[in-house]
Amino acid sequence: MNKIIPSLIVGSMVAIQAHAVVDKNFDYHVDRFADIEVLRYEVPEFDRLSLDQKKMVYYLSQAAQAGRDIIWDQNGRYNLQIRKLLENILTNYKGDRNSADFKAFEKYLKQVWFGNGIHHHYSTDKFIPGFSQAFFEEQVAALPDSLLPLNPGETREAMMATLTPVIFDPSVMAKRVNQDGTVDVVATSASNLYGEGVTQAEVEAYYAGLKNPDDATPISFGLNSKMVKENGKLKEEHYHLNGLYGPAIAKIIYWLDMAKGVAENDAQRQYITKLIDYYITGDLRLFDEYSILWAEDTKSDVDFVNGFIESYGDPLGMTGSYESYVNFKNTKSSDRTETISSNAQWFEDHSPVDPRFRKPEVKGVSAKVITAAMLAGDAFPSTAIGINLPNSTWIRAEHGSKSVTLENITEAYDMASHGNGFNEEFVIDKATSDHMDKYLYITDMLHTDLHECLGHASGRLLPGVDQDALKEHGSALEEARADLFALYYLADPKLQELGILDDPTAYQAEYYKYMLNGLMTQLNRIEPGKDVEEAHMRNRQLIAAWILEKGKKDKVVQLVKKNGKTYVKINDYKKMRDLIGQLLGEIQRIKSEGDYAAGNELIRKYAVKVDPKLHKEVLERFSKLDIPPYRGFINPEYTPVYDDKGNIIDVKIGYTENYTDQMLRLARDFTTLGY
Ligand code: ZN
Repeated sequence: MNKIIPSLIVGSMVAIQAHAVVDKNFDYHVDRFADIEVLRYEVPEFDRLSLDQKKMVYYLSQAAQAGRDIIWDQNGRYNLQIRKLLENILTNYKGDRNSADFKAFEKYLKQVWFGNGIHHHYSTDKFIPGFSQAFFEEQVAALPDSLLPLNPGETREAMMATLTPVIFDPSVMAKRVNQDGTVDVVATSASNLYGEGVTQAEVEAYYAGLKNPDDATPISFGLNSKMVKENGKLKEEHYHLNGLYGPAIAKIIYWLDMAKGVAENDAQRQYITKLIDYYITGDLRLFDEYSILWAEDTKSDVDFVNGFIESYGDPLGMTGSYESYVNFKNTKSSDRTETISSNAQWFEDHSPVDPRFRKPEVKGVSAKVITAAMLAGDAFPSTAIGINLPNSTWIRAEHGSKSVTLENITEAYDMASHGNGFNEEFVIDKATSDHMDKYLYITDMLHTDLHECLGHASGRLLPGVDQDALKEHGSALEEARADLFALYYLADPKLQELGILDDPTAYQAEYYKYMLNGLMTQLNRIEPGKDVEEAHMRNRQLIAAWILEKGKKDKVVQLVKKNGKTYVKINDYKKMRDLIGQLLGEIQRIKSEGDYAAGNELIRKYAVKVDPKLHKEVLERFSKLDIPPYRGFINPEYTPVYDDKGNIIDVKIGYTENYTDQMLRLARDFTTLGY
């Protein structure tokens, strides 16, 4: 449950020297449709890698993409079939490519690609096609049988009878992840992590039966399985070589094995071996062993994540979505995170929480800044800008965790935002806007560092408290805890003492952005009439709305009107920091004690409901700017260069594909699960 996703698109004209390596001519913009902008990111310093390291990046990238079909199937049982059908329509279409129906069809397919399925990657609502059902039927009718993605024994008519309502009927599979705790979240979620007829109560009872409260090193139950019902009894179908997703996993194993051959050192070879063993068997004990070896390897330059990792896609927060990141170290910027992590104990000892909830000994929080080289699975096209793994609580406590900031991704977001008019529209005055221009890039990055490297790693549960005690609010409250920790220390003089920030007021740029985003601008991601649902958004609104209310008497933060428009006005940054400390103390208490009732009350009171008038205003102001609420990335292309004996002698990196090209290539090269 530990990743940071970019909060919003701030148009900060960042002081250019804050950026590590920037090619000013690099073209970040790739495509724009619906509420999405697709960017590309640069991989600076790829050429500094040795030949073996380049091969490593290449093999791991192949492994990453080999699992692509898994996330599609996890996200919904018809996704792979629908993708193939839509792609065949696109490539075989003979009609007018400028017709309204075709344009709408193309937009829908681009949305489906971006969502890794028929639901929005963020809201998890089903996409609504803008083309007619008649157009769809006509296009399918024009395809020969050989181009239809039929299941064994399935007829054309049967396929259409199944898929038509799945695509067109808004009530069918309406939401991928339903987090409305008043109904059965398993039965009402459209994702494919639970089989037909499985209920939330049954799943909870099943795992309650497996969990042993005295086990100090529990496996991550449900992480790599689909729960199905057979003859009225629940059964886990595990993801492994000879189990569910076997053909995709076989390919992942092949490429991991190639990577193992060029590993940088023994430690890396060992954890790759362990990961392969885990993929072969599906044994979650092996995954824990792998995670420990991986977390403890802080020496390797090229590094990666590949597996069933984050559980946001599961309404019960157990099953991991397939994802992969391939990366290498950004040595220069890593000095910053190494300074932070080597002082982790100081931060822990001074945190504004009850000492009983602090970690007496912070273990092995390693932090680095990385250059992302490949994003895949659930991390593609929409990606995190920071990651902290492993997720297992006991492994983090006993063996530490690895925290990374994806600087080239943050940089691409920032560079692509220049001059988009956001600050002019939403920031209260020029002084604040100038301050953000100057310090937002660096404080944003520091916020990510602190959130990942210290925030998630801080604090401890009281003995006997179940790490899943906060249930459906676990993710949002955990993100709030990490954000608050980061915000609190961003304003601490310790950062000047450590030489990380030179200006003691720099943090105000991030504070302003945080309040603006949490109170107003993130509403751009919500449709009129809807509540805030996604965990990170709930976390941000919770913090901002709580501070607004608690600081009301002292006018710490206000929403003010200017020329009929609403603005965030921060009058007292110091008091705002005190409030951040107070809320951190309370949320840490809730987590440490497993106080579900108090957590539920905080979420219900501050994090969910939207002021419809303000929401409308925000949407109107955004609509004039044409700033997409969501952004994501295509990957660079890696091409091995061979000698005449078939040995790889170099790997070239390219940035030439457009969005559609890349998606069609991925489908060609990495279709592993049928169709
Ligand atoms: Zn996080």
